[in-house]
Amino acid sequence: MKLNRLLPGLSVAALGLVALVTLASLFGTGEEPRPFMVASANPYASEAGAEVMRRGGSAVDAAIAVQAVLSLVEPESSGLAGGAFLLHHDAASGTLDAYDGRETAPMGATPALFLDDEGKPLPFLEAMIGGSSVGTPGVVKMMWLAHREHGKLDWAELFTPAIRLAEEGFAVAPKLAQAIARDPVLMQMPVAQDYFYRLDADGTRVPAAEGDVLKNPAYAETLKRIAADGWRGFYEGPVAEEIVATVQNAPMRPGTLSLDDFAAYEAKKREPVCAPYRGYRVCSMPPPTSGGVTALQILGILSHWDVKGMEPMTLTSVHFIAEAMKLAYADRDKYIGDPDFVPVPVAAMLDPAYLESRSNELDASITRGKAEPGRLPGERATDWGLNQPVDMPSTSHFSIVDAQGNVVSMTTTVEGPFGSHLMSGGMMLNNQLTDFSFLPEVEGEPVANAVAPGKRPRSSMTPVIIYDANGDFFAAVGSPGGSRIIAYVTQTLIALIDWEMDMQTAIALPRFVDRNGPLEVEAGTPLEDLAPALRELGHTVEPRELMSGLHGIRVTAEGLEGAADPRRDGNVVTELP
Ligand code: GLU
Repeated sequence: MKLNRLLPGLSVAALGLVALVTLASLFGTGEEPRPFMVASANPYASEAGAEVMRRGGSAVDAAIAVQAVLSLVEPESSGLAGGAFLLHHDAASGTLDAYDGRETAPMGATPALFLDDEGKPLPFLEAMIGGSSVGTPGVVKMMWLAHREHGKLDWAELFTPAIRLAEEGFAVAPKLAQAIARDPVLMQMPVAQDYFYRLDADGTRVPAAEGDVLKNPAYAETLKRIAADGWRGFYEGPVAEEIVATVQNAPMRPGTLSLDDFAAYEAKKREPVCAPYRGYRVCSMPPPTSGGVTALQILGILSHWDVKGMEPMTLTSVHFIAEAMKLAYADRDKYIGDPDFVPVPVAAMLDPAYLESRSNELDASITRGKAEPGRLPGERATDWGLNQPVDMPSTSHFSIVDAQGNVVSMTTTVEGPFGSHLMSGGMMLNNQLTDFSFLPEVEGEPVANAVAPGKRPRSSMTPVIIYDANGDFFAAVGSPGGSRIIAYVTQTLIALIDWEMDMQTAIALPRFVDRNGPLEVEAGTPLEDLAPALRELGHTVEPRELMSGLHGIRVTAEGLEGAADPRRDGNVVTELP
């Protein structure tokens, strides 16, 4: 089943032909207008992006409007008091930019942030709720940086749709209603308990239900400051002051976040990580997210096997992809942290010869069981302890193509559902610091993703932009899902590239995830029928709800094709401007 080395060469040539046809029919030779497209997790957000592009806005302009609205209508997932990664493809120059708006640990954070008095890791919920999990928010500065480089409309204009919705009200979407109803503590939290619940006649708190209209005047005020004063409207003055006071006076686990942390925060531009896959070029975010490197490792390992010939959702393809996931997640847990604080061996992890040697560890007839991290080529002696991963699903991904062909692929998060559960300025404050390893060392070895002041916690977010064999934009996609994000996205890339599926089919496929633990398969899908055969290969199979939330756009011969994950509330809006 190993791939003949001649095959990739042949497929590159064939793909080139398809891409030429696509480009000619899509863009023609004249100046005919091209449609824009937004795919996001909420119809209000998609519409805000479309509104901005109707006014002539760029993909980055639209992304800012989408994010400002998501913060309001999908507060369980992302928001302006959270963090994000944004990939931008510039149509005119062909340049790909990677913007890092990840939160940072406050200067007052110590390696023992999430340890109890005996040095044991805190239970996750205890660490998550309250002030000590809140990192310095990064989204607004990141958007400012991206807007300075790729914005067309005035910054202030981009907040109009969100201000209007915050003042006039929006209807609660099914997922938000579900998130409120399922939340174990939201009802006890100051501010949030008055916003997400109403008091019924006998004084009982009733959670907002699907279709209820919520207004958020505090958020409208925050937005007006950001619109008027730019990034300073968020990082200086009343918005930052109120966030700091909320964190420092939190009813549980008060944190140290200060105005100095806000003043010191910088969004960063980083070098995207890219690798070839079957004639395409797949690009994503580099560390501090583990998403890009791990996804490219999985693809790099599988590139030596005939995944196309294995067919979608068969015993063989699920087995091989899961085995490749195990190997890549094992490396992820050992080697990845904030590159500004620890040396992350990205080049060695993506070294083609290394990935080929890892691919030789796959066996059609048996699972390898738990994978060990690999011995990277040229690695120095420093060894790292294994990160103990804990994630809960929230987060949001959106993809945008504007009328000029510029592309945004952005994944954004407050970490767990409703973040720290603290609310300030109409926003949920993130709990991103729980993405650090709770244990600063394991078996005497330091952990690459240990807490340190000013450091960014390791993420799993995996915004992707794919180029075809001609170097033209082919697709943008990404997903929420905690550390499962990497598996969701990689599976979708395989569906698009190896199995040549359309975006909607690829996004809707039954999910399976192996994070070097059990092989999780999406409950209620045909994958459950494969469980007995997978168990015979030695896999520990666990059916469970797997809430991906992929939103993607692909270029086809007919034009742009977008898709929203049926597991969430999102949609696609496309129009000629
Ligand atoms: N905080 C996670 C990360 O940055 C994402 C959380 C989630 O998707 O639930 O990787």
